[in-house]
Amino acid sequence: MRSIKKTLALTVSGAAVVTGGIVGVDMATSQAAGSGTVHTVRDPLTVRAKPTTHSRAVGALRKGTKVTIYCQQRGQRVTSPWGSTTWWDKIGTNRWVSDAYVSTGHRGRFTKLCNGSTGGDTGTGKMPGAPRANPYPPAMSRAPHLTKRAAFVRAEMQKAFPGIRCDVSAYRPGSKTDHNSGNALDCFPGRFGSFAKGANLKEGNTAAAWLRKYAGRLDVQYVIWQNRIWNMSRASEGWRDYGRPGQVTQGHYDHIHISVNAPVQH
Ligand SMILES: [Zn+2]
Repeated sequence: MRSIKKTLALTVSGAAVVTGGIVGVDMATSQAAGSGTVHTVRDPLTVRAKPTTHSRAVGALRKGTKVTIYCQQRGQRVTSPWGSTTWWDKIGTNRWVSDAYVSTGHRGRFTKLCNGSTGGDTGTGKMPGAPRANPYPPAMSRAPHLTKRAAFVRAEMQKAFPGIRCDVSAYRPGSKTDHNSGNALDCFPGRFGSFAKGANLKEGNTAAAWLRKYAGRLDVQYVIWQNRIWNMSRASEGWRDYGRPGQVTQGHYDHIHISVNAPVQH
């Protein structure tokens, strides 16, 4: 929304950025997500359970927070200093924000209509075929050296997605990350430190969906991408909120994190 009209207070004072909750948005079965930036005057933007301010508040997002918009739907009319609209943006399962307070570069709807059921529609391109089955047992190494199991995943990623570069990453003292044991990869469809956009975002979405689909064959334990995590051990829950909205690297908006199954630690 852009044009200036009168103000409506659609804000919660003193609310912190709220995270958590299950986000059942399934990137594998969806198409054409958009993105936007929370554009409030001062206060956080209330996230609602339904596309109306009369529904339950389920969170709040600070001004400047980047959001992924899975689809859009008509709801209650909301007027902000930037205009008046009945469009609402779906940013997760039972998570809606008025488009009046989201800067998208478009007036009104610019992405898919929500179908009202499972509602996920993150864009994916053509899915590459199945990878080979990972022949390597769980193992430990020390970054920057990958385990054979993780190196195999990198090689299969490289074949399926030649445009995505996967790094082992450096040893991180004092950290328990899977990178340290050589069991994790960070894969960049675009540049480190930049929100993946356009073709890079789409390729990342496709790769994330592919990794999820073939996690069993690849021995992938979990995948993090676009502030969402999918874990083999909680596979039925789909993609869940990772809880770092708007943080480019912490929120994994610039890279896909892949952890492979490692030995059980005693
Ligand atoms: Zn990582």
